[in-house]
Amino acid sequence: VRFADFGLSPDIQRALTEQGYTHPTPIQAQAIPVVLQGRDVMGAAQTGTGKTASFSLPIIQLLLAHANSSMSPARHPVRALVLTPTRELAVQVADNVKAYCKHTPLRSTVVFGGMDMKPQTAALRSGIEIVIATPGRLLDHVEQKTVSLGQVQMLVMDEADRMLDMGFLPDLQRIINLLPKQRQNLMFSATFSPEIKKLANSFLNNPVSIEV
Ligand code: AMP
Repeated sequence: VRFADFGLSPDIQRALTEQGYTHPTPIQAQAIPVVLQGRDVMGAAQTGTGKTASFSLPIIQLLLAHANSSMSPARHPVRALVLTPTRELAVQVADNVKAYCKHTPLRSTVVFGGMDMKPQTAALRSGIEIVIATPGRLLDHVEQKTVSLGQVQMLVMDEADRMLDMGFLPDLQRIINLLPKQRQNLMFSATFSPEIKKLANSFLNNPVSIEV
């Protein structure tokens, strides 16, 4: 399998070529077609397997397929939300997403705690399709009404096991309650404890399980 076989937009393909990616990693080869079909996914994968591109690329493709040509912020509601346990992972995922979106009209931003909310607020207000966030700071922005989650079509929980370990379950539940019921859900975790399975059962809809 090559990236060219997935039917991704030329704008995405160009970014992949620039990154020097020719062949998908095993998780990418399994996840990309399934996500493109609109299915929910439960992915068992560690960092270093290429899991970031396994969810980012098909999300970008799906957003482009339903792109909106207007550039006004009101026409750029948040449509994809990626939740991560730490600021470091959020920044890393956001850097990847930015690189993959480089030649598309899609905009992304990262939101995490421990820094001034103002620059993040300005970015969110300018209209952003993809937000990568840590749960607590995202809820701060929701409370300040600098972001609305009512139009999110795709949710990713990255390193879900670490999010539970760090005590984010109440925040995750609060966030999920703010999202439209009709949406696609992707969850990635390195381990599968009973707690993770419970979380998966509560928010994934008939997921495809992928293990690498
Ligand atoms: P991740 O597991 O998503 O953190 O990715 C691990 C590393 O592999 C990152 O530095 C990626 O840029 C790189 N990477 C991801 N997918 C590919 C690929 N298909 N070919 C080459 N490098 C990749």
